[in-house]
Amino acid sequence: MRVIDCHLHLDIEDRNRKSMLFLNRPEFTKEKLLAEMKDTNVEQAIFNTVDSVGDGIECPSYPTPIRMYDALEYVKENSSLRLMPGINPNSIPKNALKMAEEELKKGRIVGFKVLSGYSHFYPFDKVYHKFYNLAIKYDVPVMFHTGDLNDPEGLALAKYTHPLHLDEVAVKFRKMKIIIAHLGNPWIRDAAFVMSKNPNVYADLSGFFVDNVPKSAPAIASEIEFAMEYVGEPHKFLYGTDWPLVKMKDYYGFMRKIVPSSFRQNVFYSNAKELFRI
Ligand SMILES: [Zn+2]
Repeated sequence: MRVIDCHLHLDIEDRNRKSMLFLNRPEFTKEKLLAEMKDTNVEQAIFNTVDSVGDGIECPSYPTPIRMYDALEYVKENSSLRLMPGINPNSIPKNALKMAEEELKKGRIVGFKVLSGYSHFYPFDKVYHKFYNLAIKYDVPVMFHTGDLNDPEGLALAKYTHPLHLDEVAVKFRKMKIIIAHLGNPWIRDAAFVMSKNPNVYADLSGFFVDNVPKSAPAIASEIEFAMEYVGEPHKFLYGTDWPLVKMKDYYGFMRKIVPSSFRQNVFYSNAKELFRI
């Protein structure tokens, strides 16, 4: 099956400080990524980064930001790699909007990522609005981290990550396409409600486990199945892994069993193709 993975993270290999996600995963190089993509029929991989519209100033709870310039360098040689720069409201340089717009025109940037729980701003904060308007202008989505946090230093704040906050963004920015990352896990029912209420809200299925398929897999599967049945619209769900936190093959095998056959073509491929306009 043809696959688009809409949720991956990248690291800049020659930086002296590795991104937190890659600290214990030295084997996750770009070569490894491209081999995994080939092995799992992933045609397009869409990376999101922490603070890459910024110029490297730290989030309160994410000490290893990646600059947009470096992230663009990472994806530029390969047409199957695209970028959704993360917006860190603690650091938005003057040229960020202009630089992002230039790359949106070229199609290398295909949306933005908001990481409220790490940067400690609610998703409806005015600081994000100029990026939301840019996303609307180029008809690309904004992805919001929701739910469970990768937070070894214990500095992230869960209150910012509840999917219910996205209802207000969806209503105020009706023309903006919103992706609830991780389907709000574990607030999956809340996420499903926000999706079914708002025609402009979608969700990705990334990050439901780290490393290996867990013992709780049946419980996770039944929650995702509930959300799909409740929302009832195959075009609302997108496949993503959260690579490098999981191996692509393991995650694809896990999700393929959960997603009903009538949803698969949409979820694994065509929804992302349409939403990101790739
Ligand atoms: Zn992620």
